Amino acid sequence: MHKKIIKSLLLVIPLFLISTQAFAYILYSGGYNSYVIKFQNSNLNSYYSSALADAVSSWNGTATKAAISEDSTSANLVYGGNWATTWYGQYSGSSHNSSGQATQFDIRINAERIFQDVVNGITIVYTPRSTFTHEFGHALHLDDLSSGSAVMNTNRTRETIYNPLYDDINGVNAYW
Ligand SMILES: [Zn+2]
Repeated sequence: MHKKIIKSLLLVIPLFLISTQAFAYILYSGGYNSYVIKFQNSNLNSYYSSALADAVSSWNGTATKAAISEDSTSANLVYGGNWATTWYGQYSGSSHNSSGQATQFDIRINAERIFQDVVNGITIVYTPRSTFTHEFGHALHLDDLSSGSAVMNTNRTRETIYNPLYDDINGVNAYW
């Protein structure tokens, strides 16, 4: 009887420790090949452009090496469109080097999905900013999370989590 209890406790404790650590952040190999990231704002209107600028300054203000800036000659494009899908934003790397890092990327924001929130009565003051902060997290080598207090959590409340948080920052510092 006692033996059984002790055994199960021993099993539970290490599993708990592992899962706490695993969900803090997950690194993503397909991020950009530098923490100095230039991008071109392709077609965003002023509403999305200001959300993009806020997301960029929130990353640049973290205690990480992230240094993101706009450059109209960059091949890395940030643009918006209307896609009939469930995603708010998408990071897509290309021309990967031998380490699997992208040497070029696109970030898209889906105005159609954000408009769905408006239709559903959800405010969208910080949602575009949260989306851009998340997508730049991929460029900085962070993968999606399904839970937790992190901008990389795909199930986060976008109106309250729109800056890089503790685990996001730790993840970037673990990679770079
Ligand atoms: Zn994602």
